[in-house]
Amino acid sequence: MDARTAELLGSALSASGPIVFLTGAGVSAESGIPTFRGAEGYWRVGSTNYRAEELATYEAFSRMPEEVWAWYLYRRGVCRAARPNAAHLALVDIERSLEARFLLVTQNVDGLHLRAGSSPERTYQIHGNIDFMRCEDEHPRVRPIPESIPFDWPKAHALGDVERAALRGCARGAWARPHVLFFDESYDEALFRFESTLRAMKEAAALVVVGTSGATTLPAHAVDLAVRRRIPLVVINQDQSPFTEAAGRSPAGHVLLGTAGQHLPPIASFLRGAR
Ligand code: NAD
Repeated sequence: MDARTAELLGSALSASGPIVFLTGAGVSAESGIPTFRGAEGYWRVGSTNYRAEELATYEAFSRMPEEVWAWYLYRRGVCRAARPNAAHLALVDIERSLEARFLLVTQNVDGLHLRAGSSPERTYQIHGNIDFMRCEDEHPRVRPIPESIPFDWPKAHALGDVERAALRGCARGAWARPHVLFFDESYDEALFRFESTLRAMKEAAALVVVGTSGATTLPAHAVDLAVRRRIPLVVINQDQSPFTEAAGRSPAGHVLLGTAGQHLPPIASFLRGAR
């Protein structure tokens, strides 16, 4: 780990408040789960090619629920087949070192942080979890996707009667929906820990951002708060992004270009050593 990262994390350790780790799809890329920028971010319905940002919307779901569900069921199978990688495991190690000062805010819906061993209490899944669904009239209750729906969902496979029956299990035969935050929806506290995340950022001693392109609003607020409060801000990403630029502007900012699996394990051993 470089000297600047050690200096920033060291000063966060001697301050008070949570040390927040904010993760995005890049953290799971090394587990084989495509990011939305990758090829799997595109999906064909009939003769139309959709970008993920068009398909992962309430508008698309209300217009073509079966097609949107087929996309989510396929992605859920990809997530289930994946295993946590060195970056997920490093975050489990970091939680052990930081204990109550640790907070993980993840945009990932793949559940890999929890499967790796991060604690549910300190892991805010701010975009939901692809293994769950919910009925609109039961807010904020979420339930697992029924066992009758197989995990190995082939690509572009259409729903059959069994799946239709399982997914239309809401009142009056209404469709359940994937428990994810669609791009055209707003965050809330009960489902997505919106206020809790902002509160943590107002008290945070540092923010470490890993593998996110900076395209969603709560992460953008979190980074903005870190810059305005001038707390240490370390951004790990393979490429430049609005967040690497924000770290470049901040007096306490630092960019680590490269992969999550390359940069998080040395941070974990530094924090273990500082314990
Ligand atoms: P994104 O696809 O928009 O961006 C991924 C970012 O990660 C890019 O900036 C890329 O340069 C970087 N990256 C790729 N591989 C990396 C690696 N090995 N190490 C470090 N950085 C790497 O994803 P996002 O910013 O998380 O946000 C978009 C939305 O995508 C979110 O709502 C999220 O829920 C959803 N999403 C989730 C998953 C998942 O759960 N695994 C997968 C795809 C998309």
